[in-house]
Amino acid sequence: MPPRKYIFITGGVLSSVGKGIVASSIGLILKKRGFDVTLVKIDPYINVDAGTMNPYMHGEVFVTEDGGETDLDLGHYERFLDLYLSKEHNITTGQVYLSVIMRERRGDYLGKCVQIIPHITDEIKRRIRNVGEHSSAEIVIVEIGGTVGDIEGLPFLEAIRQMRLEEGYDNTLFVHVALVPILSVTGEQKTKPLQHSVNELRRIGIQPDIIIARCDKPLEEEAKQKIALFGNVPPSAVFTSYTVRTVYEVPLILDKQGIGDYICRRLHLKPKKTPDWTLWCGFVNSLLNPEYQVNVIMCGKYTKLKDSYISIIEALNHAGAKLKTKVNLIWIEAELLEKENKEKEKMVEKIKKSDGVLALPGFGARGAEGKIEAIRIARENNIPFLGICFGMQLAVVEFARNVIGLKKANSTEIDPETPHPVIDLLPEQLNVKEKGGTMRLGAQASILVKGSLAYKLYGEQVIFERHRHRYEVNPSYWRILQEKGLVFSGWSVDKRRVEFIELPKHYFFLGTQAHPEYKSRPLKPSPVFLGFVKACLYRSTGKPSPFN
Ligand code: GLN
Repeated sequence: MPPRKYIFITGGVLSSVGKGIVASSIGLILKKRGFDVTLVKIDPYINVDAGTMNPYMHGEVFVTEDGGETDLDLGHYERFLDLYLSKEHNITTGQVYLSVIMRERRGDYLGKCVQIIPHITDEIKRRIRNVGEHSSAEIVIVEIGGTVGDIEGLPFLEAIRQMRLEEGYDNTLFVHVALVPILSVTGEQKTKPLQHSVNELRRIGIQPDIIIARCDKPLEEEAKQKIALFGNVPPSAVFTSYTVRTVYEVPLILDKQGIGDYICRRLHLKPKKTPDWTLWCGFVNSLLNPEYQVNVIMCGKYTKLKDSYISIIEALNHAGAKLKTKVNLIWIEAELLEKENKEKEKMVEKIKKSDGVLALPGFGARGAEGKIEAIRIARENNIPFLGICFGMQLAVVEFARNVIGLKKANSTEIDPETPHPVIDLLPEQLNVKEKGGTMRLGAQASILVKGSLAYKLYGEQVIFERHRHRYEVNPSYWRILQEKGLVFSGWSVDKRRVEFIELPKHYFFLGTQAHPEYKSRPLKPSPVFLGFVKACLYRSTGKPSPFN
């Protein structure tokens, strides 16, 4: 096999310049040329993984097949390239230090002073190379989180600087993505902050090979020339990631500017095929030019930061594109449904007028009662309903309270003293004390009941979806819940856990303990989300449910 190629992506000026989308786009552009590509995200924080962080700190926790609780950029990588990544594709400072310190305690460095250079940087390089080796990819794209100049990012930048020497110039490529603001008064594209961030990189020994300006508009010739001159690259190595209507357009605009061919020339890669964007463009077109629209209530507790639910938003987009339907998201902060006042009345009206209600995943008591209220309204008004994980658990609570009449039913996560713990921990979770990586995580099989809604959606009996939860439908309440009409339409293989619930008489009422959003792809929408959006669409036009 020819030497593996490494593309390193750094960011400048500020965070959130869309490095993740650029990394994914470059990955797709190379995949379209026939290469086997994989991606790695480096997060310079001390947490071992994203699992212990609040979504408001970090956005969504993306769960991999093998149960990694990772950065949301892995979601972009998987969606753009239709990949299944494992947890080793997300490297954090916490992981690196943890393994070095454990080795030190074991005595592996006996007699030595353990230092950032070389011990920490060696461990970083080892982890990056491992990803390449384990995935057999020809090209590994490594995105360094944060912004150049951050103290915590330094060991990673030092490690990739060393990799240039060790892997060789022809096998490594540095891409720097930085913001170019436009002054609103003059409309001028200002390149100075970008120049400074390139200087910062060069100061530590990294000369970017490609510079991508993140700008609202395509770069003007003058700005491009300036970036090239001060950034010390040819003008043909300067590209713009300008603002587009959907992130899925970014690979198209970058490839059009010639970045794919430039990278191939620079890394001596001979494309194995001419990129064919037909299907991708078709998807982007249906996304941007829908024929229909539906209004979906998104009820959750992290609604102020949409990144908290990014995979769900994307799963709805994928389903919408397939059905030529724009899915308008109406965000409802669940807590607002908890107090009887004017604001609540307005929310209730909104829910009643909507075409569908989605109860979002989550943790803890805040907003839980509000979600239960939204679920009640959806159930009583025959509005299509989808409950994801916590959303499903609360649908069980709502059913127990308002259909069975167990007024104080609850999940023990919310009320440990509830007389009716319809959602509870199974024995294996009871003794778990540590919080990091101890939930039921990753891909798990579910067996779907033939003839059920879940079965109709998937069209097969055994399905695999990713999980991230501790609590379960309490087996002591299985009988009564089912007797009163709640259908358990999906089970874990050992039949100890309920994976899907539904209400057969309802227009569309489905809850799942899993997170099907993680496996949704632009060209392969998740069956659950596709079914839900279809139900919303049919109901909005007054048709009977497509699934009954
Ligand atoms: N908090 C719930 C549990 O731990 C649900 C988690 C989730 O929605 N991902 O079981």
